[in-house]
Amino acid sequence: MALGIFKNNKKSKSTITHKKDFQDTQTQWIKCNFCNALMYYKEVLSQNSVCPKCNYHFRISVTDRIKLIFDEGNITELDRNLSPIDPLNFVDKKSYKQRIEEYAKKTDGRESAAISIESSIDGIPVQAVIFDFDFMGGSLASVEGEKIVRAINRAIEKKQGLIICSSSGGARMQESTYSLMQMAKTSAALDKLSNAKLPYISILTDPTMGGVSASFAFLGDIIIAEPGATIGFAGARVIKQTIGEDLPKGFQTAEFLLEHGLIDMVVHRKDLKKTLRDLLEMLTNENKNLRDSKKAKQS
Ligand SMILES: [Zn+2]
Repeated sequence: MALGIFKNNKKSKSTITHKKDFQDTQTQWIKCNFCNALMYYKEVLSQNSVCPKCNYHFRISVTDRIKLIFDEGNITELDRNLSPIDPLNFVDKKSYKQRIEEYAKKTDGRESAAISIESSIDGIPVQAVIFDFDFMGGSLASVEGEKIVRAINRAIEKKQGLIICSSSGGARMQESTYSLMQMAKTSAALDKLSNAKLPYISILTDPTMGGVSASFAFLGDIIIAEPGATIGFAGARVIKQTIGEDLPKGFQTAEFLLEHGLIDMVVHRKDLKKTLRDLLEMLTNENKNLRDSKKAKQS
């Protein structure tokens, strides 16, 4: 039996275009959450939503994230058809079914916090899964776990690298143990990828917490975080209450984790695509010069 339950419906494949994601907002100005500088909104947007004064990285939407990293015109969404069933008939203030329906309306019908894509980075083909924090806090449940495993299987089949970009509060409570099972399911699949000697690069964005950080997010061959991202398992307040002690300055930030050896790099958003390209070139046999000479021979 497969771990986790979900259903297949509708068409599974669609193309993602680089449509303009930022709408003209009512306000022309934006205040930095870190240095409090008041800036012209479009100026911040033009710099990948990074504060030009202090480098604070604003959260960006999942479509902007895809646009930032992957090659325009070559982004195909896969497994879009997977949708959650409600094994526990879970109801809190609203039913789980109702919540899924509401969020799906915001995502053009996608009933998942993860987007699976087949794409390339500067011409190097990759499989990728990008988490959408705006969909139920980017939470991990059966569909998200299944999408990751399918992306891994495609990477193995096509001998490509894998990128997972996390932005998640952790496992989804509405699927309870089924959500927790995804931690084991994704970890086991990543082991297969590792045995196939294919690279997995994990990108941690703000925030990456709970069961996501405790499984695939920290199993990358290379783990990259965005500056200032909050990354951890339990929230700082909970830990403080539990251990009854003050936590060190900068606890659970990307920089703190780098200093303590838990991640490999903290990369500015403007350098992210180039860094991924360089890493993929190094870790796979995809080399630009080789590709160019192959193309030259073919033509
Ligand atoms: Zn700032």
